[in-house]
Amino acid sequence: MSKNVLIFGHKNPDTDSITSAIVMENFEKKLGHENAKAVRTGNVNKETQYVLNYLGMEAPELIDDVEDGQEVILVDHNEATQCVNNIANAKILKVVDHHTMNFVAPYQLYYRTEPVGCTQTVLFKMYKENDVEIDKNIATLMLSAIASDTLVLRSPTTTDDDRKAVKELEKISGLSINDFGVDMLKAGTDISEYTPEQVINIDSKLFEQSNKKFRIAQVNTADLDSIFKNQAYFEQAINEDIQKENLDFYVFAATDIINSNSKIISLGNDAGVVEKAFGVPVDNHTAMLENVVSRKKQILPPILDNLK
Ligand code: MG
Ligand code: MG
Ligand code: MG
Repeated sequence: MSKNVLIFGHKNPDTDSITSAIVMENFEKKLGHENAKAVRTGNVNKETQYVLNYLGMEAPELIDDVEDGQEVILVDHNEATQCVNNIANAKILKVVDHHTMNFVAPYQLYYRTEPVGCTQTVLFKMYKENDVEIDKNIATLMLSAIASDTLVLRSPTTTDDDRKAVKELEKISGLSINDFGVDMLKAGTDISEYTPEQVINIDSKLFEQSNKKFRIAQVNTADLDSIFKNQAYFEQAINEDIQKENLDFYVFAATDIINSNSKIISLGNDAGVVEKAFGVPVDNHTAMLENVVSRKKQILPPILDNLK
């Protein structure tokens, strides 16, 4: 068993999950916890790679599972379905998150969640509260994750706390969220080298609630047509996943980061929930969701409401 305390975000990690692990490792070390170690539970996407390249930073080490009794810190997630394999047998010391809570532990732990746009906004506050210095690299990582999770402060998940953090992080990093953040988001929309299977797995989350098992995947794009001209291939990849994982339904959302809309593909036996949840017609397995960009705030809740 590793003597390190492993820090990681969710599977199919996004920029918040990768950078929050790095920022939390630095935080723990500054508080004297030298054995803190950031790792990741999946591939680095192109958006995150853009940030790491800018900083000349290596991605954290990849892990597939954790050993029994491994001490861990979770960032940017709490649900077991989105966590590393064998998490049930690990010892969770801390959770720092900004998602709906679907978590129980039969022991005491540090659990911090806030209804803000990004885990890094919570970490920003923790740095402040503990007088830990936010240097230029840490500020850049924080700013990048907030830009990613809030689509450059345009998502309805954005809060005043996120905006306040960004103001200060822009100063420290010397970056403008509107320039750097948009370039970063654009880098993430390049799916030219990916297979349809890889595209649906860039940012796919598994949920098991109301006796249903389903996935909501999301990909950012600056051009919906470029995605939907390949709809048949995506449907094939989604259907294979539905079979393999025995899912009740699957929602794949392509989010237009320029116009702040999402066009979805919904498949599976319970795919009809989408029509009820959003009150929109589903045509050829697709539906346009105007002004919808947030899985957490705008896609998941109406689906859960209509599963009951
Ligand atoms: Mg995330
Ligand atoms: Mg996040
Ligand atoms: Mg996200």
